Amino acid sequence: MSHLDPERLALVAVGETLTDAEQEHLATCDVCSIELAELEHTVAVGRSTVTLGELETPPERVWDRILDEVRSQQPAAPDAGVAAPAASAPPAAPSASAPAGAPSLADEQPKRRGLRGGRMLFALAASIAAVLAIVGVWSFVRAPQSVEIASATLAAFPDHPGAAGTAQVIELSDGERTLTVNVEDFDESDGFREVWLITADASALVSLGELDGKKGTFVVPADVDLREYVLVDVSQEPLDGDPTHSGDSIVRGPLEFS
Ligand SMILES: [Zn+2]
Repeated sequence: MSHLDPERLALVAVGETLTDAEQEHLATCDVCSIELAELEHTVAVGRSTVTLGELETPPERVWDRILDEVRSQQPAAPDAGVAAPAASAPPAAPSASAPAGAPSLADEQPKRRGLRGGRMLFALAASIAAVLAIVGVWSFVRAPQSVEIASATLAAFPDHPGAAGTAQVIELSDGERTLTVNVEDFDESDGFREVWLITADASALVSLGELDGKKGTFVVPADVDLREYVLVDVSQEPLDGDPTHSGDSIVRGPLEFS
């Protein structure tokens, strides 16, 4: 029996059941069982890690291992029974080493090795494609992972009766945090609105940017500790070129962490 189809191995690695014949082959074939173990490791890594960092390792190890295999199999071709016809030799065959116009049994050797190498390279490409497919699926499944880590209810200041708002902090899988602010029922006439994070004692504040309309999402700078900058504030800003807080807050509320 020839080696198991790499695509089959990939499916087995993600949970498909082995047929009896495949089980029998795996029991006696190191090449296939090592390959399956590698794929299963990749899947396990994919299932157990949130970050994708570790996932970059398996394909490289698989690549190295298969390359080693190709190298180790190339010189080991003493059974001179089935010489490959030249027509079926892949383009990659190193047949250039054979002197032209002098075919002999010895000349068949490089061609046969080339064919073997070609088959191995095909299997190699298929294996890598299977691994990358698994990695790709897992990246796809895991990439959109983001969690709400905090939220706030924003209450109106006396100068802006009727205004109200909410805020959510989302942490993405790469650690980036975003703050989404929604403000309702405020006077949108003059100037512009600006979103701030302010410390509980109002001793420090950081501007996240201008709120265009009623809803906006802002990246929270990586060095801002939300346990300190715990107040979400939306201010009414005049067009005076002054980047500081106008002192005219529309809504404000403390973050509550989930
Ligand atoms: Zn095998």
